[in-house]
Amino acid sequence: MSATNGTNGQQHPVRSRSASSPYQSVQDYLSNVANFKIIESTLREGEQFANAFFDTETKVKMYGLNPDCAEKSAKALDSFGVDFIELTSPVASEQSFKDCRTICSLGLKAKILTHVRLNMEDAKAAVATGVDGVDLVIGTSSFLREFSHGKSMTYVQKTALEVIEYLKGEGVQVRFSSEDSFRSDLVDLLSLYKAVDTAGVQRVGIADTVGGATPRMVYDLVRTLRGVVQCDIETHFHDDTGCAVANAHAALEAGATHVDTSMLGERNGITPLGAFIARMVVTAPDYVKSKYNLKELKALETLVADAVQINIPFNNPVTGFCAFTHKAGIHAKAILNNPSTYEIINPEDFGLSRYVSISSRITGWNAVKSRVDQLGLKMSDEQVKEVTAKIKQLADIRPLAIDDTDSILRSFHAEQVEGCGSY
Ligand SMILES: [Zn+2]
Repeated sequence: MSATNGTNGQQHPVRSRSASSPYQSVQDYLSNVANFKIIESTLREGEQFANAFFDTETKVKMYGLNPDCAEKSAKALDSFGVDFIELTSPVASEQSFKDCRTICSLGLKAKILTHVRLNMEDAKAAVATGVDGVDLVIGTSSFLREFSHGKSMTYVQKTALEVIEYLKGEGVQVRFSSEDSFRSDLVDLLSLYKAVDTAGVQRVGIADTVGGATPRMVYDLVRTLRGVVQCDIETHFHDDTGCAVANAHAALEAGATHVDTSMLGERNGITPLGAFIARMVVTAPDYVKSKYNLKELKALETLVADAVQINIPFNNPVTGFCAFTHKAGIHAKAILNNPSTYEIINPEDFGLSRYVSISSRITGWNAVKSRVDQLGLKMSDEQVKEVTAKIKQLADIRPLAIDDTDSILRSFHAEQVEGCGSY
């Protein structure tokens, strides 16, 4: 066992030899995996979550000033580095309108967007809040056209061009997106997007509103769209079938430029910010580490979890309490020798630490030795093996907490090493 390769002075060959990592596939000229922007939508999309009610104070705390401590200006999500913050439509309620105005006035680095239905009235309300950009949306699938708004594609296109013209005149950014894009007629969709692109929108958006798309479907649609429009391509994936992060990655590979995220979102959420960042820090470590303040992720997720009264899921990428916990004996030995053996992500990048659990019957003496060293106890390998056997014996009988194992180690040390026990 090499002393220099422990958890303290660790090297991560997977990351330091990035080009040779099988997890960093060769990208073609269309790929934007190392050049994407995040549109953080927790305060819009996240409000649809069953438990969610974000009051202005929470919104401000997430995105700007801490009202109790103005000089600190927490600017939580803004300082995390997201490029855009998307807010609930100002026509949803009076308070939503006020929230848009308040957040626009904070002077954040991130651009502020609001998401409205495709009609002139909504567009005007959006402009009145002072946002940097307006995200227009309308359903284009036959389901939505028949069962929701009842409008024809001709009507949709005509209205789109009028509203886009108005917004351009007001000097705000415009995104035009269909809802339920994957169940829309491809020819309808592409001709509509070509028209709005020509009209001068900054982005077109595709949305997997029902969460049914697969990475392959996403790749094909985005790649086709990339050949049709000049503007940026925004993507929005729901996670009903567990593909939201993979779909976002596939979209970027196919030439999409923007990914919508939310933290611990609504229903099954859209691409979760934390899991997406976990994926992208492996795909494009230099870009992600230079652009996003990864150490703030945990505090951000905790803030949202508290606001909607849920726990961060135990198995959440990066921030779940099991994310960097290792237990099994052989596994723990390898982790202690070289963390890359079982970890693709370095917890230290996120200001977190790995935890090797020794309080179980599957623990190994290497893990126990590492804890002994952490506690500053001096024991020979033979003594560590002996105390490991003791821990295993006890763990067979009852569950052990970390405190329990620490006291076992301490009293064993006192007995054996300091000789004050009755050995
Ligand atoms: Zn959505």
